[in-house]
Amino acid sequence: MSGAVSPRRVGLLGYPLGHSLSPIFQQAALDALGIAARYELWPTPPEELPAAVARLRQPDTFGANVTVPHKEAVLALVDERTPAVQRLGAANTLIRLPDGRLRADNTDLDGFRRALTEAGLPARNARILVLGAGGAARAVLVALADAGARHLTVANRNLDRAARLIDDLGLGDRATAEPLSAAALEPIMGTIDLIVNATSIGWHDNETPIEPALIPDGAAVYDLTYRSTALLQSARQRGLATLDGLTMLVYQGARSFELWTGQAPPLAIMLAAARAALAERERGR
Ligand code: NDP
Repeated sequence: MSGAVSPRRVGLLGYPLGHSLSPIFQQAALDALGIAARYELWPTPPEELPAAVARLRQPDTFGANVTVPHKEAVLALVDERTPAVQRLGAANTLIRLPDGRLRADNTDLDGFRRALTEAGLPARNARILVLGAGGAARAVLVALADAGARHLTVANRNLDRAARLIDDLGLGDRATAEPLSAAALEPIMGTIDLIVNATSIGWHDNETPIEPALIPDGAAVYDLTYRSTALLQSARQRGLATLDGLTMLVYQGARSFELWTGQAPPLAIMLAAARAALAERERGR
């Protein structure tokens, strides 16, 4: 008997799926290593999530990435949760095990930590302002607490959500919740070494989570949005250290790739593919 091996599938579960770069850099990695697989976009409304996750148990899939709004809901649909998932209460990667069981993992933590360290941004003993209290902020706070941050201020539009997050993560007096307003943040800004934007604000030109004038001299700015946001541009113009979210995105994806395929991810190829796609997108804006 002969015949072509049918390609395996892996993809992104979320809803709606807008600006994802994952298919581009994941496909580049699969192709570079000669792995017969397609990375697909799987827009999945919440009522279809159980069926979509059940499909991942088939032998023709590696698993999936998971994004908003399913990062928490998938936990009830899998067989195993890694310690990172248990700490964060959310998964961004599902891995199909050889026997068809599904393991949930979270590679955002790894991706954030690796990008931060490589860029040499301050974390150990640093006073850090994290903007946002959603899923991404959760991974950011755990990584920064692990890295030995001296103090974490979590500023969010919904103040209760920030306070709950600090509580949930057991950060105690290492963290303080503040509203996302100039009046609340101005008094502490002079002490801040690093600002991390983990809000959804930054995808459109000229929108910023805080007024750039609030950024103190000497602070570094890390924006999880993977584009050159108004916040980053303003910090860069003042000669401050900055980092956008592209390396985190690629590093979390590279770790997922490794978990699915068991192979070392071709990082340079993934980064180049993501950068090229992003540059093209920005030209078309
Ligand atoms: P969530 O929906 O879980 O959280 C969104 C956050 O943004 C909340 O803190 C929310 O505040 C805040 N927010 C939303 N709209 C506004 C607004 N109009 N004004 C002020 N605050 C607002 O999303 P995620 O945490 O998953 O993602 C956050 C960002 O991080 C996104 O831009 C996402 O693309 C990016 N991201 C990047 C990654 C990377 O690898 N680079 C990985 C993961 C995420 P409130 O609680 O008040 O609603």
